[in-house]
Amino acid sequence: MVSFRNVCKAYGSLVVLDNLNLDINAGEMVSIIGPSGSGKTTVLRMLMTLEQINGGVIYVDGKPLTHMPKHGKLVPANQRHLRQRRVDIGMCFQHFNLFPHMTALENCMEGPVQVLGMRKPEARARCEELLEMVGMIDKKDQHPSRLSGGQQQRVAIARALAMRPKVMLFDEVTSALDPEVIGEVTEVIRKLVSEHNLTMLMVTHQMGFARDISDRVCFFYGGKIEEQGPPSQIFGNPERERTQQFLSAVR
Ligand code: ATP
Repeated sequence: MVSFRNVCKAYGSLVVLDNLNLDINAGEMVSIIGPSGSGKTTVLRMLMTLEQINGGVIYVDGKPLTHMPKHGKLVPANQRHLRQRRVDIGMCFQHFNLFPHMTALENCMEGPVQVLGMRKPEARARCEELLEMVGMIDKKDQHPSRLSGGQQQRVAIARALAMRPKVMLFDEVTSALDPEVIGEVTEVIRKLVSEHNLTMLMVTHQMGFARDISDRVCFFYGGKIEEQGPPSQIFGNPERERTQQFLSAVR
């Protein structure tokens, strides 16, 4: 579903992604862990086409996300093409970024109506279903300022799903939350994993959560995948010394 092929990203002389190759299968839940600055969030930002890559190609559902065809060749995509392809990817951030002047329901309906051109009654029905799924239907007419961090994050997840993305990205979605509400957000993500066959990529510092819900865990180091495998291998029997050192430091 998602393929990074020799993807490079640098900021000036700082190489952040170094010839990255990563494949995520349809329906797979992949977690990215690793030290601060190892390039984890950059992987998601590249998939969101928030910035252009310096080399390589990213494919989503077989189509080049970052490139477009021109005169029979693939050339780096322009901003218009990138905007069009962005709807395939849903993302939830550490800070929920809900529109403050809109209710929870209006926040969810905005993308389907404005970007996908969905009719309002259809968008409302879909978004109410999603708000029900994340346990927020009772608060659908509340503005974000009246919601707790965990509730806002659940609305943000419903809002991203409302666009029917092919791939969902979660970037540290529990980092900004008070400990007592982390569970309600992780439960929603668990539910997505167990009941919906979504392709998901998650950056997290919560090792227990990554171990519980991932099909595969990738340990990043210096803009590369140092080691990857099922959670039982990465957390139970890591092969690489850097993985062992990282895990013993964070546990
Ligand atoms: P953390 O766990 O702390 O969030 P990370 O592994 O997600 O770290 P990234 O956010 O991907 O790391 O950043 C990788 C490197 O790229 C860091 O050294 C960061 O300072 C640098 N970087 C990220 N964005 C920019 C930018 N816009 N301009 C310059 N450097 C950047």
